[in-house]
Amino acid sequence: MAKKYCYLFSEGNANMRELLGGKGANLAEMTNIGLPVPQGFTITTEACTQYYEDNREINPEIMAEINEYIVKMEEITGKKFGDKENPLLVSVRSGARASMPGMMDTILNLGLNEEVVETIAAQSGNPRWAWDCYRRFIQMYSDVVMEVGKKYFEELIDEMKAKKGVKQDVELNAEDLKELANQFKAEYKSKIGSDFPTDPKEQLMGAIKAVFRSWDNPRANVYRRDNDIPYSWGTAVNVQSMAFGNMGDDCGTGVAFTRDPATGAKGLFGEFLTNAQGEDVVAGVRTPMHISEMEQKFPEAFAEFNKVCKTLEDHYRDMQDMEFTVEHGKLYMLQTRNGKRTAQAALKIACDLVDEGMRTEEEAVAMIDPRNLDTLLHPQFDAKALKAATPMGKGLGASPGAACGKIVFTADDAEAWNERGEKVVLVRLETSPEDITGMKASQGILTVRGGMTSHAAVVARGMGTCCVSGCSDIVMDEANKKFTLAGKEFHEGDYISIDGSTGNIYDGIIPTVDATIAGEFGRIMGWADKFRTMKVRTNADTPADAKKARELGAEGIGLCRTEHMFFDPERIAAFREMICSDTVEEREAALAKIEPMQQADFEALYEALEGNPVTIRFLDPPLHEFVPTEEADIEALAKAQNKPVETIKAIIASLHEFNPMMGHRGCRLAVTYPEIAKMQTKAVIKAAINVKKNHPDWTVKPEIMIPLVNDIKELKYVKKFVVETADAEIKAAGSDLEYEVGTMIEIPRAALTADEIAKEADFFCFGTNDLTQMTFGFSRDDAGKFLNAYYDAKIYENDPFAKLDQNGVGKLMEMALELGKPVNPKLHCGICGEHGGDPTSVEFCNKIGLDYVSCSPFRVPIARLAAAQAAI
Ligand code: ADP
Ligand code: MG
Ligand code: MG
Repeated sequence: MAKKYCYLFSEGNANMRELLGGKGANLAEMTNIGLPVPQGFTITTEACTQYYEDNREINPEIMAEINEYIVKMEEITGKKFGDKENPLLVSVRSGARASMPGMMDTILNLGLNEEVVETIAAQSGNPRWAWDCYRRFIQMYSDVVMEVGKKYFEELIDEMKAKKGVKQDVELNAEDLKELANQFKAEYKSKIGSDFPTDPKEQLMGAIKAVFRSWDNPRANVYRRDNDIPYSWGTAVNVQSMAFGNMGDDCGTGVAFTRDPATGAKGLFGEFLTNAQGEDVVAGVRTPMHISEMEQKFPEAFAEFNKVCKTLEDHYRDMQDMEFTVEHGKLYMLQTRNGKRTAQAALKIACDLVDEGMRTEEEAVAMIDPRNLDTLLHPQFDAKALKAATPMGKGLGASPGAACGKIVFTADDAEAWNERGEKVVLVRLETSPEDITGMKASQGILTVRGGMTSHAAVVARGMGTCCVSGCSDIVMDEANKKFTLAGKEFHEGDYISIDGSTGNIYDGIIPTVDATIAGEFGRIMGWADKFRTMKVRTNADTPADAKKARELGAEGIGLCRTEHMFFDPERIAAFREMICSDTVEEREAALAKIEPMQQADFEALYEALEGNPVTIRFLDPPLHEFVPTEEADIEALAKAQNKPVETIKAIIASLHEFNPMMGHRGCRLAVTYPEIAKMQTKAVIKAAINVKKNHPDWTVKPEIMIPLVNDIKELKYVKKFVVETADAEIKAAGSDLEYEVGTMIEIPRAALTADEIAKEADFFCFGTNDLTQMTFGFSRDDAGKFLNAYYDAKIYENDPFAKLDQNGVGKLMEMALELGKPVNPKLHCGICGEHGGDPTSVEFCNKIGLDYVSCSPFRVPIARLAAAQAAI
């Protein structure tokens, strides 16, 4: 049977999201449960994929099916496409499987031309409406389909408003709008070189193609990469008959949530604008009214809307985000979806739904996007400092969090400043989808215009970035990069602090403090821990980090990078002496100075971990990373070593490597300088013995990890003197301490020969940063230079250093487990690369049977939740 590319809303349902996209599937579902939905049909995501396969053309087969469905739509609505007397006007709306708010383009009032407008203007007795529809259509079609650019049309509107001495679009009358439509068409012709299309079918195909094409626009690509949405999914297209919110004062359009998307509080939340259409509410052309005010103006529609909200929430068992239009007092539902929400709101809603009996604990855990938790783990304003500070202005608390940084005025500046390490707050009149990368680069976003559902607010909430929107007290001068607030002029680079929960704006810097897990966050994490089977450890080098990670739920240290302990000034001197030694004796003398410091560090770590496992990795980086580069430091070292400066310089020069990441590092250091590994062994074992003595009830069992092993003999060689040294210490202390010696699997050869290596290793820890680097054959420090080109060319969709490459690197991991485990049934396995805190990578680790993931302290809750979701 031939593939079916089109579905009437009445033919689909909510489960067909893959084929119909989220919007289409939900329009179908709403139709099925009897809600008032303007009827239409959905062109499937497969048609989009086919469009790309056919070199960005709609093939005749699909074209024919679309035409067939237009006829069906005409029958359902009793209107005819392109008919003068009774024209069918439609919207053409994109809708991917996962909602991508504001990322794709919509066209309204399609099907209009000069003749049709004149007729409906006369027939309806409402020429203002007719011309408003037409000018909007030309505007959107030119922008979305022909890519003329919004700004030309907005300028024409501004000119018209100035000429008429009015402030708002609604104050323009039919004549003005007609003149605007003509100006728009002239603008179109001057930019495109041909007349604006009059044939509705031609308009429709153009619009459908534009939606397909928008799947590949740069902002959609950025959004997808941030949200793990595969490029291969494609978008569906919805063709829907219009409901008109712009026919007069008994009409309007709105957006609403069934619960507050910022806090999660139960209750209708949203905005409504009379005599308006489409994006007017979110684009901030006028300040909309709070949804509750709708009750006075539209009592019946409001009552019905309330009922619909309840129906939808009960049906989807989740907070809904809805779009609707009122046409002459009658309600039409245009969209519903599970609403995007802040992390705080997500936790509250999930807990409330459990308490309301709508969801199970498992479902509640599954509802939270782990990536979202990040925002809750970021610093909040210090409560004391905040109390003492006086806000100089207030906007809407559109996306919670605390942001403090230097003011920038454009998205490009935000990106550029961020790249050179500056923290910035982006201040804009309003944001648009083009600003998305700049928004991402900002600590926070402050806008002059726009409500809680404005672009800035929605996108910021999605990204978990703090946002204060609609502070109309700001007198903005974007062109000159300055604004005035509370009588003070602010310039680019000035410090500002904004509170995304209260909407308060502060002059200067307000200090921030770390977040904690409590309340609903704690409840959800408790449930997550109940359901997950994989352990979560942390990568921590200092007792402070380890404590933080413990607070956030870490069950051990999966990776302690010992070299990080060497950088403080007192230690680096001793370490440099060690590096610049000529003889074993000299080296041992220098190491003897370091040993007690290391031992103290390890004792503090064991204390912080309270008997939970601690994996300590032996020295890993190439030695040249530690040598001095400043002349004064070199001289000091020469003096300490009692050697000529030239000798020291010669040693430094000799440490130079062409490719240090593949050079003299990892266990190769232990092979060439066994005394380093011996010193580290002593420090680890002595520390453990001491802590065990002080806390007999704790399990203190050191896990010594040898990095960068690629051959069984190499591990055996190093392990031999590690074990000898350790056993000697244990014996001397008369202790019964047990310990393990394991290895990192971070070189492909280690994975390939894991059956041999497992004979000597008590555990494997996948160092996926190096394993990725070595498997791909490119350096993680240099990949940034070319990865963007790879994204643009669709060779890679993600940064393999952020998201585990399951097909390649993942296959090596699986192979290592399959080879290693049978040889050594006691072998325990974990991961300690950056991937240990990435939700999809965590899911993969669970699937292949790792015992634990280890990630940076602030990612621990994310990993706990992701591990639970993987297990559910
Ligand atoms: P987005 O995915 O960016 O929200 P939509 O496809 O939902 O884009 O369209 C944007 C807005 O256009 C909707 O919120 C709605 O107000 C308006 N709209 C879309 N289709 C119709 C329609 N058939 N009748 C009236 N308004 C519509
Ligand atoms: Mg929408
Ligand atoms: Mg490594």
